[in-house]
Amino acid sequence: MVSKRAPSIRTSILLLTLALTRSSHARVPKYKPISRSCGVASPSTELQDSHRWLQHNEALDNDLWNASSVQQRHIEHHHHGSHPFGESLSSSNASESDRRRQALPSPSPLYVVDTYIHIVADSSSASASSPKYVTDTMISQQFAYLAHAYTNASIGYRLLGISRSTNDTWAANGDDAGMKRALRRGTYSSLNIYYQSLLQAGANTPGIPAGSTLLGFCSLPAAGVTSGGTTGGGSISGGSTGVGNTTPGTGTPTPPNSRYILDGCNVLSGTMPGGNMVGYNLGGTTAHEVGHWNGLLHTFNGNSCAQDDFGDYVADTPQEMTSTNRCPVYKDSCPSSGVSSTTYNGGPGQTGANPYGPQGYSGPDPIHNFMDYSDDVCYQGFTPGQGARMLNIWQIYREGL
Ligand SMILES: [Zn+2]
Repeated sequence: MVSKRAPSIRTSILLLTLALTRSSHARVPKYKPISRSCGVASPSTELQDSHRWLQHNEALDNDLWNASSVQQRHIEHHHHGSHPFGESLSSSNASESDRRRQALPSPSPLYVVDTYIHIVADSSSASASSPKYVTDTMISQQFAYLAHAYTNASIGYRLLGISRSTNDTWAANGDDAGMKRALRRGTYSSLNIYYQSLLQAGANTPGIPAGSTLLGFCSLPAAGVTSGGTTGGGSISGGSTGVGNTTPGTGTPTPPNSRYILDGCNVLSGTMPGGNMVGYNLGGTTAHEVGHWNGLLHTFNGNSCAQDDFGDYVADTPQEMTSTNRCPVYKDSCPSSGVSSTTYNGGPGQTGANPYGPQGYSGPDPIHNFMDYSDDVCYQGFTPGQGARMLNIWQIYREGL
């Protein structure tokens, strides 16, 4: 009997990947948006206060894994479960275990976010023969992009589930609450990303003309949001925009708060790797949007070069007046702001948590930063300050919930 040796699994996957990539590139009609469009809401007063507080109390350090305050809180959390607010953020020596961890070539993430991906297609893109069909390869490449994007921020992501739905209304952002009530998984510390085939501006993206194509938006963190439901551990009252009031639990299960239901990221599925949004189809939109879910603001937040404008409240992202389109060779929208990073020498008056003043570093606009509006090829990473900020926001707003 003659049998032909089957190709190895690895070879099969490679061939399948190539076939899918080639066919999708050949068949998908391309659409080039004029610029990145993100529908994230303005930060609440509460979240701005957190950023302002952290900006004045976070040590600035060029290496997140050697940042004493970050490390201190990491140790304290895991050893004592204490809360970062109200604690001294003074430096302390690293423990032996953390010193050993720093010595590893690839340090493990400081925390890992449970992640659920939901593919929400309209009826015309729901079948595998459709040019806009989201393939399993696109999902795995998108998740890989997300995980890689956050390695320098020491944040890990663990993909726990994938769902697929076909619903014309949901796909076009026509019933955000209904979609998320049906699909949302996990807790307030779980990331749910909804990839919608026809994502567009709606009632949940005020300030953007209804019907405009959106690349994405996420909910920013809010205090006191729990999943309610079976725990009976308390309930939250308050409007969708205000700060809720926590009511002690009575043992009676409470329905999930609307802010819990709506929490998550809405992303246009054409921005996934291999999607049809030319210039924005490498996966960068998800990295940007999840930055909002982690609490970060746009690097051009405030749209001002004024001395009293805090921008994104992160010291090591240079102040920026305008968002960036595509990937310019050079851009400096606030040429006179901040203090040069090269003038900081740790001398008198420069020993504070933020020696660079409210605007942060001077210097060219952070066009390669995930929280600008640049196109995907321009994106490179987050700053150490953004990494520290995400960790702090995580500990304040989401961890353990
Ligand atoms: Zn954004």
